[in-house]
Amino acid sequence: MNTPGHRRIGVIDRYRDLLPVTENTPVITLNEGSTPLIESPKLAGRLGRGCRVFLKYEGLNPTGSFKDRGMTVAVSLAAERGANTVICASTGNTSAAAAAYAARAGMRCAVLLPSGNIALGKVAQAFVYGATVISINGNFDACLNVVRDLRGETNIAVVNSINPDRLEGQKTAAFEIVDELGDAPVVHVLPVGNAGNITAYWKGYQEYNKLQRATRTPRMIGFQAAGAAPIYLDRVVPSPETAASAIRIGNPASWARAKIAITESGGAIDIVSDDEIFEAQLWLATHEGIFAEPASAAAVAGFLKCTDPSRRCGSCPLAQLPENSTVVLTLTGHGLKDVAAVLDRRPAPVPAEANKAAVLRLL
Ligand SMILES: *Cc1c(COP(=O)(O)O)cnc(C)c1O
Repeated sequence: MNTPGHRRIGVIDRYRDLLPVTENTPVITLNEGSTPLIESPKLAGRLGRGCRVFLKYEGLNPTGSFKDRGMTVAVSLAAERGANTVICASTGNTSAAAAAYAARAGMRCAVLLPSGNIALGKVAQAFVYGATVISINGNFDACLNVVRDLRGETNIAVVNSINPDRLEGQKTAAFEIVDELGDAPVVHVLPVGNAGNITAYWKGYQEYNKLQRATRTPRMIGFQAAGAAPIYLDRVVPSPETAASAIRIGNPASWARAKIAITESGGAIDIVSDDEIFEAQLWLATHEGIFAEPASAAAVAGFLKCTDPSRRCGSCPLAQLPENSTVVLTLTGHGLKDVAAVLDRRPAPVPAEANKAAVLRLL
């Protein structure tokens, strides 16, 4: 896989035995998955003691986020069951993935987006892939309630993560990490919005552990944005607020299962501020050359916070790492999805006359 002479294949063909598909399932794929696991010595340096840190760069999936892993499975099974329309509520990336895989399958796609508040790159994707884009007067949680009501309509498949096929596909990221590292990491860090991904990773790691392809399961650490932190606060947040639109969710669909993943794994749930998120996004880009969207940067912000000796709390799994531990962070989506969020916070380009001396003066 991904070695010279090998063609990259999608997650259904790569992990068919561990997914709810049969030989009758039409495989709707864009060769998603098999994303890079990039080592970060700079992040590892903050841990010391021989630890290694890896970044699972899910922004390099076909539509630019990990949502493609779940969508290939959900749309393939929807096609097998005879659906002709897929529908989802979305903060953006789910709609981009649903629209692309529906196009690939020759199915119609409708996406319900919260009015305003959506990253432009993601809306552009839904449009170009041919989806019907519906702007709902309400937030993401309101959109999801409408979609829940549409479940059971003939020929319509709901492809939000309330559809268990999505999580089945998303668990393949954990498989890939174990396959590449030779074992599960000691800690896995990721951002949490609707909480499907933390649930899916936990399922994947547990399955590999049961199959003895991994000797352990990692402690799962989730980070929410401070203004959209229902799991951390243990209460619904009626008007979630954060510039990281992919995790702007006040009532997560997989709340209960995410809590189980955190508790069973000996993990933690914590929060980061929007300022910390954007600092981390910039840190990652300027130090490692990786541009991830704000929601993804929440995981990095959390890691930076928890490895700062002046700030970390005693119970943090990152504070008690055994020597030579491996830590994986998921970078959930590509930075180009949401350039407005970056440009809003950046200074304008520096003006100069069109000559060498003027440019040299600025260096
Ligand atoms: C969907 C998404 C998340 C949140 O994942 P959940 O499964 O909803 O917790 C985080 N980052 C990005 C880029 C996403 O698209």
